[in-house]
Amino acid sequence: MNIDTKILSGKEVATFVYRNLEAKIGDLKKEDVIPGLAAVLVGEDPGSKVYVRSKTRRFNKLGLLSETFLFPADIDEGSLIHEIQMLNENSNFHGILVQLPLPKHLNEKKVLHEVLPQKDVDGFHTENLGLLTAGYPRYVPCTPKGILEILKYYEILIEGKHVVIVGRSNIVGRPLSILLGLKRKFGNATVTVCHSRTPDISEHTKRADIIIAAVGVPQMIGADMIKEGSTLIDVGINRVKDDSENGYHLVGDVDFQSVLGKAGAVTPVPGGVGPMTIAMLVANTVEAASRTI
Ligand code: NAP
Repeated sequence: MNIDTKILSGKEVATFVYRNLEAKIGDLKKEDVIPGLAAVLVGEDPGSKVYVRSKTRRFNKLGLLSETFLFPADIDEGSLIHEIQMLNENSNFHGILVQLPLPKHLNEKKVLHEVLPQKDVDGFHTENLGLLTAGYPRYVPCTPKGILEILKYYEILIEGKHVVIVGRSNIVGRPLSILLGLKRKFGNATVTVCHSRTPDISEHTKRADIIIAAVGVPQMIGADMIKEGSTLIDVGINRVKDDSENGYHLVGDVDFQSVLGKAGAVTPVPGGVGPMTIAMLVANTVEAASRTI
């Protein structure tokens, strides 16, 4: 057990994606179209604020339009829906994202359903999830799309491989399981999805060529759960308290140190899937803007 584990840098892939988007953004600007994103943020959740800030910062850095619409935590559902409908009609914004989670009194499914499917650059609307399931994706949710881009960039073969996804959320695990199993290029994998009711997850992960961990349990996947040479994509972002200035540090769902030397490749946290999620949000918004000309 002494493999030279390759570190799959999401930062590097994101830089490549931004470089490739430059020409498209330039063409749109020539047509007086500046891709624009409206970020809807409800309440004061510190994690959500950080996510929205890093997304809008990236848009601004690329000379794109990005505006955050902040609403109080106690906003009623009708008012929030009205605000989203106004954004649907605002032609400056080609994409709308509603930062999750929403406060408990708001029905997430209902609110997300109000975003115009053509502006749903997060790909969470049921119409877009339906298109994806049928094999004609319009907007692929950003994290699954980013993971596919990492695999493509590093030429990790998916076809014919056994992929085990741990986690079945609507934003990561479920869409990813569908995409990887589609009969198309960068699909054709045999996919197993594990979740909190799976009796023995390691029984599956030990047979996997590729493991995608999207659980939210710090360092859950260790060396004893994987096959030698497998590829590990770590989606998890978990805050672990420590004595640092921030009071915490980030770890993934994979026990990074333990898998070095046994895994063939692994994404780090931070610097792995996270930067790709933002890059794909930009890519989807640019795509949405392109569809308007
Ligand atoms: P989620 O909605 O909470 O879903 C978690 C999934 O993991 C569920 O399917 C759940 O099973 C399963 N699960 C939970 N505990 C488990 C356990 N002990 N054993 C097996 N399965 C278990 O989470 P999510 O939104 O998909 O996010 C997952 C992680 O990815 C989080 O750490 C989140 O912060 C991170 N994330 C990162 C990015 C990024 O850009 N890097 C983007 C999105 C999310 P059940 O379905 O049975 O409940």
